[in-house]
Amino acid sequence: MDSPFEYRYNRLTWAEMNDAIARQPVVILPTGSTEQHGRHLPIDVDLLLCESICLEAARRADGGVLVLPPIPYGLNYHHIDFPGTIHIEPEVFIAFCLNVTKSVAYHGFEKILVVNGHGSNVPLIDIIARRTTLETPSLCAACHYFSLAIEAFNEIKESAVVAHADEFETSLYLYLAPERVQMDKAGADDDVMGAYLSSDSTTSYVRFNDFWSRWTDLGVHGDARPATAEKGKIIFETAVTRLGELCAEWREWPLAERRDFHERPANTQIRW
Ligand SMILES: [Zn+2]
Repeated sequence: MDSPFEYRYNRLTWAEMNDAIARQPVVILPTGSTEQHGRHLPIDVDLLLCESICLEAARRADGGVLVLPPIPYGLNYHHIDFPGTIHIEPEVFIAFCLNVTKSVAYHGFEKILVVNGHGSNVPLIDIIARRTTLETPSLCAACHYFSLAIEAFNEIKESAVVAHADEFETSLYLYLAPERVQMDKAGADDDVMGAYLSSDSTTSYVRFNDFWSRWTDLGVHGDARPATAEKGKIIFETAVTRLGELCAEWREWPLAERRDFHERPANTQIRW
């Protein structure tokens, strides 16, 4: 039987919102990007994949999760040489998302989760989650949906590098909307690699991200050619299941009172 609870935040009326606040679901903010993803994929990849996983996890959560309208743009200046990419300055992105999470906290939702779909947003969502927790009475955590599915994908993948517009993202897109994937144009590319550095370093010793037009003709990092909808289904189901588990844990997470251990009164009038 279908759950009676709406799982899309902005489908509720304000009166219904009071019932939702009383129920204390986890409120998810999906963050994506509008960014080139090779010659074979539309530029909505990060947004579509991330939002689809959030919505399905929420639909299955029986009132335990509400999904906000997603943030469709992110930090992307390193892709700006590819037509269509939209860039938001990191300070603007952090400020904008914080305004959303603080609004949610203002209404009394105690558990907020930023679920991200764009690699370059990772350091920014960390700051957003920390600042929301430190600057409101609510708790906010952040994750990248990709991390929830990577172990399952590692069992089935046929290419070595998992990065961008690759076997992982193309498989997931093939599962969700195959009619928009141009597999005849799918290709492979790699960044410039040294012992310590690479041009698209998000996981190796040193973090460094160069302009992508300096090292790729396709806008791909990895190999999209072995992608299939069957692999995409495994990624999708794993990410949805694990996101549901994460939300259930987060919903029950204790929100304890802060305690002041100063023996003399602290200068609480000072604000940062
Ligand atoms: Zn992507």
